[in-house]
Amino acid sequence: MKISQVDLIKQYFVENPNRDIAHPEIVDWVTFEYEKLTGEKFRDPDRSIRKLAQEGFLIKVSKGIYRYEPDAAHKRNLEDFTPSQKKAIFERDGYECARCGKTKKDYPSTEFHIDHLVPKDDGGKAILENGQVLCSRCNFIKKNTKQTATGKKMFVNLYEYAKKEGNEEVKQFCEDLLNVFEKHDINGHIEWKK
Ligand SMILES: [Zn+2]
Repeated sequence: MKISQVDLIKQYFVENPNRDIAHPEIVDWVTFEYEKLTGEKFRDPDRSIRKLAQEGFLIKVSKGIYRYEPDAAHKRNLEDFTPSQKKAIFERDGYECARCGKTKKDYPSTEFHIDHLVPKDDGGKAILENGQVLCSRCNFIKKNTKQTATGKKMFVNLYEYAKKEGNEEVKQFCEDLLNVFEKHDINGHIEWKK
């Protein structure tokens, strides 16, 4: 029988529900158990824990602290689209990306995804009305939009500062970066005054 590292982490959280658990506690336990069971070292428990949080199995309480809530984990799974719902949404929208309007014909090698219009984290449900088609590029941008917004804001501020200080090198650097944001229409709502 093959023992999966992720399954061990899950087991620990399931046996300790509704409690904030800090990284060292779980890492110590799984490393010990894994070695006892398999004779091998556990490779990267941190990564597995982060992955479980991304999948919605665990709740990230704060940096390095995670929590398993049986009801929430169960509910999150319920809010995933089923394969037949995905098929229905693809067919309804003609396999066309809701953001850039590209279709399979335009992007034959690109993957198309079904996305929650209102994210699951914000209470978005797995109903057809809450589904939309996104190409993988737009899906990626949507998923990372909060991070890119932070990035754009930071460089807009740095640009302003460099302009005021007369630091041409930094100003040019920010300009180059911000032009990439503008070119690809990423976070267009954040204003950059050239
Ligand atoms: Zn797209």
